[in-house]
Amino acid sequence: MKPQNDLLSATGTTIFTVMSALALEHGAINLGQGFPDYDGPADVIHAAAAALLDGRNQYPPLTGVPELREAVASANRRFYGIEADPRTEVVVTSGATEAITACLMAVLNPGDECVLIEPLYDTYLPVVKLLGAIPRLVRLTPPKWELPRAELAAAFGPRTKAILLNTPMNPTGKVFTAAELAFVAELLQKHDAYAICDEVYEHLTFDGWRHIPLMTLPGMRERCMRVGSAGKTFSLTGWKIGYVTCDRSLAPNVAKAHQNLTFTTPPNLQRGVAIGLAKDDAYFAGLSASLQARRDRLGEGLAKLGFGVLPTQGSYFITTDFRPLGFTGDDVAFCRALTTEAKVTAIPVTAFYAGPNPPSHYARFAFCKGDAVIDAALERMARWIEARRAGAPRAAAG
Ligand code: PMP
Ligand code: GLN
Repeated sequence: MKPQNDLLSATGTTIFTVMSALALEHGAINLGQGFPDYDGPADVIHAAAAALLDGRNQYPPLTGVPELREAVASANRRFYGIEADPRTEVVVTSGATEAITACLMAVLNPGDECVLIEPLYDTYLPVVKLLGAIPRLVRLTPPKWELPRAELAAAFGPRTKAILLNTPMNPTGKVFTAAELAFVAELLQKHDAYAICDEVYEHLTFDGWRHIPLMTLPGMRERCMRVGSAGKTFSLTGWKIGYVTCDRSLAPNVAKAHQNLTFTTPPNLQRGVAIGLAKDDAYFAGLSASLQARRDRLGEGLAKLGFGVLPTQGSYFITTDFRPLGFTGDDVAFCRALTTEAKVTAIPVTAFYAGPNPPSHYARFAFCKGDAVIDAALERMARWIEARRAGAPRAAAG
């Protein structure tokens, strides 16, 4: 048989699926893959359920149902002062994953360079490569995850077509500052490049950190494709409703990419999300406050167990340094042992690096879980750590 697509043949199954399967196999509490273990808002779910029963189950418009496009435009105005025409500057997709791919497809030609920042979400690199574009990786390093400005500037050149920027950032929990964004904006202007802005965690920021869309900076309105996700904003990750806001000069290509990927997205879920985006400010404040409390519960517990806990300003995730526990293996070995022995699952942070010699002593924990689940996970890890100290590394938590 002739070889299949080289790139996909060489790409492994996503780490989130691998670790979730391992969690299931070992009866572990899954703090790996980032999904809440609680449901989203009842009114949004009821709106979608009602929308299944009112006879509008055929193909919706290519760029999304009008009520959701309008809700996306209104949310842009309400939260960021971004004015966008819902008819010509919003495209609804089947999740942010599709939105990001569609935005990359919209601008990249084979041979174009695309700047990516490590640690990176797992779909970015394969998609850039599948499009025949050339990734230019710039690395953030724990524990500070500072933007290395000189390296970022050096990654841009005459062939740079775009940057893919994720803020608030998975897995680092970093929220890019106004100064960092201004630096990126300057590079985009200088090199006449576009930005795909993965802002799925836009409403999940803590301690007064506020998400700033790159699109709001001077000169960026026409260069940015801003991606949001109902999965994250409404704790409904299985719904897979994403939305792109971009200039009317970019939207037609984003829409044509979407046309060739999925063409449309279930209308009933779109109509539920439209209700969600119109919710009052208290909903959005409550979302981040409740996640901040979960972050604190898990973070304080992990610190007590001896982990080095890195600060999280936004997202669902805490990154931890496990060396203080005395574990000498790498992050893959750690996450495997934690799953099979302690019965708690985390994600090895090296999975988010593509370049050589990534930092290999960090594990990512998701805190979008109920209190009892967080407490049970901490208890299991406490017993495991205790047993290892007592010289019985194989003692499983019950
Ligand atoms: N980008 C990042 C950084 C993510 O963490 C996720 C995770 N789920 C996505 C994109 C994909 O979002 P969606 O589920 O809406 O496709
Ligand atoms: N975004 C989620 C995470 O980072 C996972 C999404 C997926 O499983 N593909 O955990």
